[in-house]
Parts: sequence; C-alpha cells; structure tokens
Amino acid sequence: MTSPHRRLDRRSGLVLDTHDLRRRAGELRTLQSTVMAPHELGIAVIRVPEGSPLELDLRLEAVVEGVLVTGTALVQLEGECVRCLTPISDELEVDVQELFTYPGSEASDEEASHLDGELIDLEPVLRDAIVLELPFQPLCRPDCRGLCPECGLDLNTVTEHDHDDAVDPRWSKLTQFESGAETP
Ligand SMILES: [Zn+2]
Ligand SMILES: [Zn+2]
Repeated sequence: MTSPHRRLDRRSGLVLDTHDLRRRAGELRTLQSTVMAPHELGIAVIRVPEGSPLELDLRLEAVVEGVLVTGTALVQLEGECVRCLTPISDELEVDVQELFTYPGSEASDEEASHLDGELIDLEPVLRDAIVLELPFQPLCRPDCRGLCPECGLDLNTVTEHDHDDAVDPRWSKLTQFESGAETP
C-alpha cells in the first residue's frame, strides 16, 4: 500500500521521473536498468536479498489519464526448502503493468497508483507483484524427501532409511522415551 504522504526518494532506482514524457499522450520511452533491491522484500521462507540486483525492463507511456508502466522485473531469490531446510537460490521474473494516474484524473481513485508530481514510485507495485509470485512452500526440488521425523536425517542423502537401524546417539534418548510412551 502506498501512503500518499510518503516522501519519494529520487535517488532510489525504483522512483522513476516521467518529466521527459511531458504529459503528452502517446509519448513513450523505454527503461532498462539494474537497481538495488529494497529492504524486506519477500516472505519469511523466501525473499529478495536487500541490495541484490533487480533488473528492470520497462516501457513508460504517457496516456490521457497518466503514465502506463509495462514490462518486467527480474529479481534474485534466497530462501530455505520447507522440507529439508537446504538453502535455495533462484530468480524470478514478474510482469509489471500499472497505470499511474495524474492527480485529479478521472481514472484516479483510492485503489489506483498515483503520480507524485512527475515521479512514479514503483516499489509498492513491485512488492505486490513479487510477493504474489513467491512460493509459500519453497522446495529445493519438487520431490524433496525432507527430514526423517524420528531422527532428523536428510532423507535426500540416503537411498533407504528406517528405524530398525541403530539411531544416531544424539537422538536415541528421545526415541526411547517416545517408544516407551507408546507401548505400555
Ligand atoms: Zn528440500
Ligand atoms: Zn530417521
């Protein structure tokens, strides 16, 4: 959500100046740039590291109601597999399509993104687009076998594993306790 009173920082790579479009419908320009990813972009299990390269490939077009921004953003991802906790790194490309309306334009309402003077703040739009595309249950691979619920062994590292085998001594006390509780 964009706070209408948020001060835009022109130095941020995600704040775009539309001065050169001169509010003239039909004017357009393209923008390719690599900027630093902002703070806290993502969810607990997978996120875009702050300061990592975020590649923008955009088209800015002046239309009657404002400036239409279309294109893509490519970001780096870091997270952990929810089954086996292995670090995951990946990249994600999201589509951007947003109309930033001129203040007072007919298309302008509470939901719409607005121009702030001649500036566009791409950050909230990117945040929404990226968070929607993130996997809520990231996996290191689709068939990750996870950790053994009894001893914590990474089941991807072995072909067969069951608990007729001797248990890792670090866990044996716990196992004894559990089986003692189950069999009276
Ligand atoms: Zn995994
Ligand atoms: Zn086990």
